[in-house]
Amino acid sequence: MRIHSFIVCLVTVIAFGGDAAAAAQTNISGSTMGTTYSVMLAALPVGIDQDRLHGELDEILDRVDAQMSTYRDDSEVSRFNASSSTAWFPVSAATREVVAEARHVGLLSHGAFDLTVVPLVELWGIGRRIAPTPLPSDEAIRRAAVPVGFSKVETRKGSPAIRKQRSDMRIDLSAIAKGFAVDRLATHLESRGIEDYLVEIGGELRVGGTSPAGGAWRVAIERPSGEPLTAQTVVALTSGAVATSGDYRAYFEHGGRRYSHIIDPRTGRPVAHELVSVTVVDRSAMRADAYATALLVLGPRAGLVLAAQQGLAALFVSRERDGFIQVSTPQFEQHVIH
Ligand code: AMP
Ligand code: MG
Repeated sequence: MRIHSFIVCLVTVIAFGGDAAAAAQTNISGSTMGTTYSVMLAALPVGIDQDRLHGELDEILDRVDAQMSTYRDDSEVSRFNASSSTAWFPVSAATREVVAEARHVGLLSHGAFDLTVVPLVELWGIGRRIAPTPLPSDEAIRRAAVPVGFSKVETRKGSPAIRKQRSDMRIDLSAIAKGFAVDRLATHLESRGIEDYLVEIGGELRVGGTSPAGGAWRVAIERPSGEPLTAQTVVALTSGAVATSGDYRAYFEHGGRRYSHIIDPRTGRPVAHELVSVTVVDRSAMRADAYATALLVLGPRAGLVLAAQQGLAALFVSRERDGFIQVSTPQFEQHVIH
């Protein structure tokens, strides 16, 4: 199978469909949230100027960044993290919504997804991509895990606010905010009368309508083996989101072992099992993003149980001695092109 080269960023998803990228009349791209984004449209409706649309999309992304980024000190999340107050902390409706969804997925995944995992992420040097030496001791892990617990962060809807039950708690929305931003961009395009689109941020994507090459959008989930890029599975979608959480690009090695960039909050250690990637298809990119991370933490068995309970369209790719094996839910199979 040949893959036409519209490679979506660093992670795991390659979108193609004939030469969708070449056929697209409008490609908009830029950087956001420490990664890149791209938007592909078959055509611009009459009366919509591409530069103006680009500006509108950048504005939406800048807003999400100002709300949820942990890279900038003045974002709502960074200010919440810097505050030791346990009183309600007013935030935008957007931040409240994402925190509430993160809590919800935390609850359903029995804590596998945890937005308060920050001290453990830092302890393991995640983001720096270098192994901490020596590796953290059991005692250091125990200490770092003290302010971790998704249920100790609450949200209030009326006048949107969030609060922490312990003054030393911090939150990280990295595993869900990209999906949220993808939804925002998609909704904006639809509000401007654009029905046929692909929106992608750092590998999390959402499509609507038909691809510029005609027919449904085809999204190839990359085989997690590095080069050359080959498709593990291809799904066809006319509307919906695809998010992947995977470890074969973002990890560190130490003593011949591979350490994930995702923490299992139940052990305080990077995820260590044979599962290398989980892909979730859902109407909402935010949900798909969060569940992909949650299922990756849970692993192939418990992950499948949660996916079945929640009726999720999920694909699990595991490393076996002589290759990769994949397991998916019936909801995922419905999207697969055989
Ligand atoms: P993703 O690529 O969407 O799976 O998100 C991974 C990022 O989420 C990591 O780089 C961490 O910043 C953060 N993270 C790590 N472990 C967890 C976890 N168990 N729950 C929620 N977020 C996590
Ligand atoms: Mg995620």
